[in-house]
Formats: sequence, structure tokens, C-alpha cells
Amino acid sequence: MEFKTYPFTAKKYAAKVPQLDNGTETKRHAVTIVGGGPVGLTVALGLANHGVPSVLIEADDSVCHGSRAICISRRSLEIIERLGAVDGFLKTGLPWAGGRSFYRDTEVLHFKMPQDDNQKLPPMVNLAQYHIEQFLLDAAERRSDLIDIRWQTRVTAVDSRVDGATLRLSTPEGDYALNSDWVVACDGGRSTIREALGLQLKGTSYEGRYVIVDIELESDRPTERLAYFDPSSNPGSTVLVHKQPDNVWRIDYQLRDGEDAEQAVKPENVIPRVQSLLDMMGERGDWAPIWITIYKANALTLESYRHDRVLFGGDAAHLVPIFGVRGANSGIDDADNLAWKLAFVVRDLASAGLLDSYSSERVFAAHENLSYGTKSTEFMAPPSFAFELMRKAVLSLAIKHDRVRTLINPRQTSAITYTASPLNATETEPG
Ligand SMILES: Cc1cc2nc3c(=O)[nH]c(=O)nc-3n(C[C@H](O)[C@H](O)[C@H](O)COP(=O)(O)OP(=O)(O)OC[C@H]3O[C@@H](n4cnc5c(N)ncnc54)[C@H](O)[C@@H]3O)c2cc1C
Repeated sequence: MEFKTYPFTAKKYAAKVPQLDNGTETKRHAVTIVGGGPVGLTVALGLANHGVPSVLIEADDSVCHGSRAICISRRSLEIIERLGAVDGFLKTGLPWAGGRSFYRDTEVLHFKMPQDDNQKLPPMVNLAQYHIEQFLLDAAERRSDLIDIRWQTRVTAVDSRVDGATLRLSTPEGDYALNSDWVVACDGGRSTIREALGLQLKGTSYEGRYVIVDIELESDRPTERLAYFDPSSNPGSTVLVHKQPDNVWRIDYQLRDGEDAEQAVKPENVIPRVQSLLDMMGERGDWAPIWITIYKANALTLESYRHDRVLFGGDAAHLVPIFGVRGANSGIDDADNLAWKLAFVVRDLASAGLLDSYSSERVFAAHENLSYGTKSTEFMAPPSFAFELMRKAVLSLAIKHDRVRTLINPRQTSAITYTASPLNATETEPG
């Protein structure tokens, strides 16, 4: 079977080098953002909304490729709307409001997310991460007076001080150094900045692995989250199915114990599994694979997102399991929290201490997200025999007992309340 390509062509951007003096950029910047993924772009747009200029450093020459985040929550859409970028999300994205879970061939859960006529935005839209980044990038390009994007520019080293930082940058056009008052590290799960500062993510890495397959398939099936536990097409496994725009479907299936990851992603092993899933679902149309990769859940975070003048956000700060779609969505929330605070500090409207509340609020949120994500992961990819047994018990009981069904709930991402934020503290009466 022949592979197809994504129905999306990313624009490629060239590297540019600014004016230098002795290998260092002549201009010192107020804010430099490292990483032009969803989180870095959202920080740049948030700062621009407050009139604060930034330089955005991105190692690649375009938006991302392949299958990554695919669901954007209402909370993220609200943030993106404030940044003037929501139109593309609503025009291209597929809205949805619920999902179904099946145990073998029986439906055991039909969940619905809050939605009524007074809600302007849908609870969730499905769209590929390349679209997510493209729509944010389009908005950033409209703010080119305040957002200076440097493509094909990789941070290779950081010298962090109490009054700022110097970044070493490498480009195909030559290397240079850049000085900045503040650095926002949004350089993803393998963050160079995190490593350069000697910081480590803490938490749990799971063994259970999922194969992620994007396929092209024309189907008028409605958009909803579908989860199949122990399906006849792939006994002993869990399969997730999401419809995306442009006839792209995302299928995630759990590898069984002892399955070799290298073998598992070979097309000759993936294609029969997808075919038997589609047969089971009653999808009879022609289909073709587009993308195959493997995923392992991590539940990890830094314990502080502020280190002097360096602030961490998104995957550079925390890695959240994909179940519950908290990856990109929690990063967009980080960006929203950080942008206005950093803008206030840069504009001398607040002291730098305000940024400590960014760290404490979003570290708290990460722990909440990790606790939900961990529960979901234990259900979706049971890490031990005991969890496996528990899942089997819940699924078997759910066939007949309504009340057990809530235990299958995928715990979709939701806004986190900062109950312990320093910004909520009551003012102490002068003694
Ligand atoms: C296979 C896979 C499947 C996923 N599925 C889901 C899902 O279903 N749902 C969900 O919510 N999330 C999912 N995620 C997670 C989601 O993609 C991330 O949470 C999200 O991309 C985080 O955004 P970010 O901007 O923090 O980091 P990234 O998107 O990783 O962006 C980091 C950017 O920094 C750039 N960069 C890195 N190093 C440097 C450097 N040294 N110098 C300059 N630039 C640099 C990179 O090129 C990249 O553009 C998935 C991730 C993967 C890998």
C-alpha cells in the first residue's frame, strides 16, 4: 500500500543574521523566546497584545511536520481568540462535544462535554498541529512590527545571569551571540535551555507504548472521540480514533506486552491492524497511511518555571501524557499566564516578583494536569498486572452498571483553578 502525504504544504523560511558587532548582535532585546511551537508563538502574540516586542528563535525552517497535538480545547480557543488568531481554528477545525468508549463490542460510555446555545466556542476542535502552528504564525506575521522571527536559528548555549542572559545561536548563514533581558524557553521536550541550565524534569515515565498512525480516509462519520478497549480487531489492546480535517484520521493503538517497538512501526505490521480496525468500525472506503510513529507517556515537570531571567513554558517545562489532550492545551495556558505578567514587568508596571506567581500557578497546574493525566494513562496503558486487572473489572462491570461508567471518563483537559496562588492571598492588615 502506498503512503500519501498530508494535504498541507508548509512554507519554508530562510535564516537571517542581524547586524553584529564582533560576533554579537548590536541590539540588546527585552524578551527573547526560544522555540516557535504552539507555546512560543502564543507567548509572542500575548506580549504583542501588550505592545511588548520580542525576538522568536526557531531551529526549523517551517511549522512542524507529522502528527502531534490534534485537539484544541474551548479554554485554548478563548485564549487564541484574544490573540486575534481564532478564525482559522474555527474555519478549518472540526468541532466536537463528546465521545464513546467500547469494551469489546459493547458501548460502555457516551460522554458529553458542556455545550449550549450560549457558548460561543465549541468544547473542542480537532486539527493537526501543523494547522495550529500555521494559524498562530499567520497572526504573528500580522504583528511583524513587534514579533521578529528568526528561522533556522538554533540556540546552542546559554549564559544566564541575574540581570539577563546571552544566547549562542547557530544558523546556516553564520553563528552569533544575542543578549536579552528575559528569555522564555519554549524549546520543547528536549529543551536545550533546560539542559544548559542543568535542570531536570521530575516524575514518572511509563513503559506502555502507543503506535500513532495518520491515515487518509473519506468518511461522513461524525467527529467524536472513539475509544475501543480489547476490540475484536486488535484483542488485548486499546485503540483511540479521532477524525481530523481534510479526510485525515488519527489512530492510536496500544502495543501489547513484549511487542518489539521497531517491528511494530513497520508498515507491514501496521497496515493489517488498521485494516481490521476499519473493518470492525464498518468503514469500507479506500484508505492510505500517511504517517507512523511511536509514543511513550511521560508525566514529568520542573519544580520551578523561573530561573533568574529564564522562564520555562510548554513541553520544556512539563511533559503530560497525551490522554486527556493536556499537552498543547496546558502549554497554551502557560503562555497566556506568562505573557501579561512578563509584559507588565518589561513595561515597569510590576516588579519581577510577579513572575514568581507565574511559576507557582503553572507548576500547581502541571501537578493537577499530571494527576489527571496519570489516572488516564493508568487506564489507557495499564503499567502493571494490578492496573490491568482493575481496568478489566471496571470495563466488564460498566456493561451493566451505569455508575461504574464514570471511571472510564477520559478526563479531558479543563481550566485549572489556582486555589493556592500568591495572587489570591488576603492583604495583611498593617500592624
Ligand atoms: C508523537 C506525539 C504525539 C502527540 N500527541 C498529542 C496529542 O494527541 N494531544 C496533545 O495535546 N499533545 C500531543 N503531543 C504533545 C504536543 O505536541 C506538545 O505538548 C506541544 O507541541 C508542546 O508545544 P511546545 O511549543 O511547548 O513545544 P514544541 O511543539 O515541541 O515546540 C518546540 C519548538 O522549539 C524548537 N526548538 C527546539 N530546540 C531548539 C533550539 N535549541 N533552538 C531553537 N529552537 C528550538 C523546535 O524546532 C520546535 O519548533 C504529542 C507529541 C508527540 C511528540
